[in-house]
Amino acid sequence: MFFSNWFGPSLTRLPPGNRVALTFDDGPSETTPYVLDLLAEYNARATFFLVGMNCHRLPDVARRVIAEGHEIGNHTWSHANFYRCAPWQVRAEIERGQQAIEDTLGRRPQWFRPPFGVRWFGMFPALDRLGMRCALWSLDTCDWRDPADAIVERGAGAQAGDVLLLHDGFRTHVGNNRKETVAALGRLLAQFRDRGLEMVTLAPAAPAK
Ligand SMILES: [Zn+2]
Repeated sequence: MFFSNWFGPSLTRLPPGNRVALTFDDGPSETTPYVLDLLAEYNARATFFLVGMNCHRLPDVARRVIAEGHEIGNHTWSHANFYRCAPWQVRAEIERGQQAIEDTLGRRPQWFRPPFGVRWFGMFPALDRLGMRCALWSLDTCDWRDPADAIVERGAGAQAGDVLLLHDGFRTHVGNNRKETVAALGRLLAQFRDRGLEMVTLAPAAPAK
């Protein structure tokens, strides 16, 4: 019910409940500490889909993500576009990303999110081998493209059960490049709190271990 099928099952929404799930892709980056500060201020938990190369570059930032109670997922080693990859390359990107995250954090993510949302040949077999599940989203805030006002307007349309897509980095780029996301996030967190929505990780929908 909460999984749509295309090649294989992918999570797109949370089980019933007065909750929303904020998810952040492409970190860790120089922006991530600002995102973490805001989440802490509103007692919100989120899920971070980490890029393996970025974990190697900013291990202390990645460690802060789990130290503050957030969930982590794998977002490949180098933010590869699977559409241009052979199945063996897809598998290598997932496995190398998983290894980089485990080396950095001592933890193996259960969740995987493909860059650009591209599910491709070789992806589901690789996830099965690693015991992982694919998590997509139900609401794209388009924060990678738009200014804060537009991000807030789109995000404010969230309903209970929605999984929101946001970004705390930009692929493997270096630098604090997500200022619009940070500006929007504080306003969205305040709105969700005022609406009585609990802000949770993907754990309520997690597969059995
Ligand atoms: Zn991404």
